[in-house]
Formats: sequence, structure tokens, C-alpha cells
Amino acid sequence: MSYPENVLLHIDGKWRPSASGKTIPVINPANEGILGHVAHADVADLDEALAAVGKGFAIWSKTAAFDRYKLMRNAADLVRQRANEIARIMTAEQGKALVEAQMETLSAADLIDWFAEEGRRTYGRSIPARAANIGQVSYKEPIGPVAAFTPWNFPIGQVVRKLSAALASGCSIIVKAAEDTPGSPAELIRAFVDAGIPAGVINLVYGNPAQISGHLVPHQTVRTISFTGSTAVGKQLAALCGQHMKRSTMELGGHAPVIVLKDAPVQQAAELMARSKYRNAGQVCVSPTRFLIEEDIYDEFVDRFSSVAKTIKVGDGLVEGTVMGPVVNERRLQSVSTLVQEAVQSGAKLVTGGKRIGNSGYFYEPTVLSNAPVSARIMNDEPFGPVALMMPVSGLDAALDEANRLDYGLGAFGFTRSAESAAKMSRNIRSGMLSINHFGLALPEVPFGGINDSGYGTEGGADALEAYLNTKFVTHMQIE
Ligand code: NAD
Repeated sequence: MSYPENVLLHIDGKWRPSASGKTIPVINPANEGILGHVAHADVADLDEALAAVGKGFAIWSKTAAFDRYKLMRNAADLVRQRANEIARIMTAEQGKALVEAQMETLSAADLIDWFAEEGRRTYGRSIPARAANIGQVSYKEPIGPVAAFTPWNFPIGQVVRKLSAALASGCSIIVKAAEDTPGSPAELIRAFVDAGIPAGVINLVYGNPAQISGHLVPHQTVRTISFTGSTAVGKQLAALCGQHMKRSTMELGGHAPVIVLKDAPVQQAAELMARSKYRNAGQVCVSPTRFLIEEDIYDEFVDRFSSVAKTIKVGDGLVEGTVMGPVVNERRLQSVSTLVQEAVQSGAKLVTGGKRIGNSGYFYEPTVLSNAPVSARIMNDEPFGPVALMMPVSGLDAALDEANRLDYGLGAFGFTRSAESAAKMSRNIRSGMLSINHFGLALPEVPFGGINDSGYGTEGGADALEAYLNTKFVTHMQIE
């Protein structure tokens, strides 16, 4: 499968261009060439999508959970069968190494399976009443049509969490996927269409993000919003949701701290974290970023981490052997370069990297900075790129203070052999997720989400369905 010349909208069961015929070019971040074009929806297309998603909800919410489960499992199988072709599309548009794109596509199939099964267990409750002739029951009902806004860093991974949980709960959905990476989410949705999802249940649009959210969020048809992206945009959308009394799930930025204590297996921790840092060129919301390392092992950790960073093969993700591809677009490249330059000017030491590679494609060196002052912008704003920040700390208390200094609270990591230190980290870290001595985040069955400026709600585990369900209480007194 080569890159599609035209990525189309999917509205009311049909693949089609926008009514206006407008398109947006899709750029290959590895060479800046045009891969194809994506349809740009305008208000007329959005109104059709709204009518379709309402109709889709009427059908899907009345479809038995067992039938929804069977259809979703079939879609998951199609995703698995097509994974190699889909992954090539993803790498071409997003840049990540092909092996990462394959893993993302295959894990999407596992996630669909998991939510399909979980949708059969959206149990209500029977509540003991205060009189013998009264029955009290709470039901879980699908909330209604969903509008989902997803970013480009995991073009399928971000869509599939929202799509699967919504469908498993009986909701229909309009997905606005990222214009930078439209081709692979379209293939994900094609698998559901080919598996037989009724028209209107899944709709896919692209266009001007602010125009689309400005039209969909206030619309009466849409009952909940799920957004993944930056904290700044998340706050705007959350405010809009508040104004229109819409529920929402917000999966926003992070600045993950990594606490490494002197009793940790230093070499293994450094290798694991270096490989995790440069995955997807650091464009991961739970990417390990602020390394808070106990002083006694600081040099050893930084040396090992940097030596791994130097061996990472950077290049076109479609070329065999590439470990790290380019960042997604020119804006990202500029943003990472500026943050690194400012940090160096403010006194940080560049241990390795720190430059753009070549002048075609958005490649940036795997970078390690040490001793950046906490006032440097990079220590406060999410770098969202291949940059690790090393900082010595006197012990666990100092590490926890620094870890909790920011308003972000998404992912966090810790390395220690001490059960006592691990317990102290668990109790005191302010984040939605903490992974101790391994990278254990983002499996389908575990919670995934943040607190404070990193947003609210969870997109993993059984609780993820709650975002798409209403609780209805019915009390019934029997008349003699
Ligand atoms: P951004 O917030 O501008 O865009 C992120 C996504 O949100 C994009 O897909 C974009 O199309 C969409 N978006 C933007 N404005 C919107 C609006 N008004 N309504 C609806 N959708 C809107 O960020 P960016 O410049 O693409 O990426 C930079 C920052 O975004 C990163 O530094 C990072 O903090 C954050 N980000 C986070 C994640 C994540 O997984 N949490 C993913 C991508 C980006």
C-alpha cells in the first residue's frame, strides 16, 4: 500500500472529499516532500457529520453489547492483518521508525479487543431499598455522540483509545484526527467500516482544528468531548465545554520526572531510560524528561545514558536499522532547537547532541543537557522532542520536591532497590501514573491519564468507559 493520493473524510458511511473540494498537503517529515493531500472539512461537512453521528447513535446504542463486541473483534483482526501496510503509511507521514509504527498498530488491535470485551461488563447496580415493595436499580447508559480530537504523535494510538472505549460503551463518534498524520487513522477507521460498522457510527473529519472544535463542542448533538494535545489548547476546550455543560476528558502535556536513587541498578536504568527517551523522537506525553539523579551516581548515570544516546541511529523511519526518525514538522524542530539554545545560554551543559541533522527533513540529534537551571524554559515547558535533562539531587526528598515543582502531573518514573523508597515515591509523587524500575505504562488494562495541568479522566483500564456512560437511577414501588 503506497501513501494515498487523497485522504478522504468518512461521513455517514461514505468516503468522500470535502464539499468545497479544499485539501491540505501532507508532508513527509523525513524529506519535506508532499506525500498526498487530506480533505479539509468545512461547516457544511461538519453539519452532515453531526446529522450522521446522531443517526449512528440511535442505531449503535440499541445494538446489543455482545454484537458490538463481535464487530469490534473483527475490526481488530483486520487491523492485525493490515498492520504492515498501515505502519508504512504511519511512518511516511509521522516519521517514527517502522518498527515503532508496527508496534503501535498491533497494540491498537489489542486495545480494541480489550475494550470490546470490557463493553460487555458495563454493569449497573441493584441497591437495597428501605421497603419491601421498592426496587432500586442504577443503569449505565451510553452518554451520546462523542467528539474526539487527537494529535499526531501516535496517529492510531491516540484515536483507538477514544474510539474503542466510545464504541464499547454504545456511543457513536466524530473523530477529528491530526492533519499532519491523516492517512493511518483513516486506515484504522477503514478496518471498522470493512468489519461492518453501521453508517454514521464512526465519522472522520480533518480541517481547521479551532473551527471544528468551535462548531462541534457547543452543538446539541455532541454529548462529550475527548481531547489529547497541549495544555494550552486543552484549557481552551475545557472552558468551551464548561460553557456548554459538556463532559470532557483531557489528556494533556507532561514533563515526566525520573528519580534515580543510588541503590538502583544504574547501568540498566540508564539504558532503559535512554531507549525510552528517544522513542518517537521524544514526542510522547509520558516521555522521561527531567532526570533527578542522586549525586553519588550522577556521573555514572549520565555517562551511560549519553553513550546510548550517541549510538542511536537517526534517519528515515522507513529505512531498515533506523531507531529514531525526524520530529513531525518544522514547528516542532524550531521549538526544540530554541528550547535547547536558551538552556545552553542560561548555563546548561550540552553533554551530547543539540543540533539539527542535515538541512532536509526535520532531524534533530538525540540530546542530553545537564545542570539546566530550574528557571530555564526547558525545565518548565514540555520539550516534546529528543532531549533529556539531567539534574543531580541530594536524595529522595529533594528529588520529590523537584518532581512535584511543576503543575504537570502525567507520567513519572523511579528507580530504587529499596521497598521503603519505592513506597515513599508512590505516596508522595503528584502524578497520574508512576512506573518504578521499569517502563510499565499504557497497556490497555491499566489507567492512563494525568492530574492538574496534565488534564483529567483516564483513557485506559475499566474506568475509561465511565467517560462514555451516564448513570441512570430508577426506583420502582410496586402498587398492590
Ligand atoms: P497543539 O496543542 O497545537 O495540537 C495538538 C493537537 O490538537 C493537534 O492535533 C491539533 O490539530 C489539535 N488542536 C489544536 N488546536 C485545537 C483546537 N482549538 N481545537 C481542537 N483541536 C486542536 O500542539 P502541537 O503544536 O501540535 O504540539 C505541541 C504540543 O502539544 C507539545 O509540546 C505537547 O505539549 C502537546 N501534545 C501533547 C500530546 C499528548 O500526547 N498529550 C500529543 C501531541 C501534542
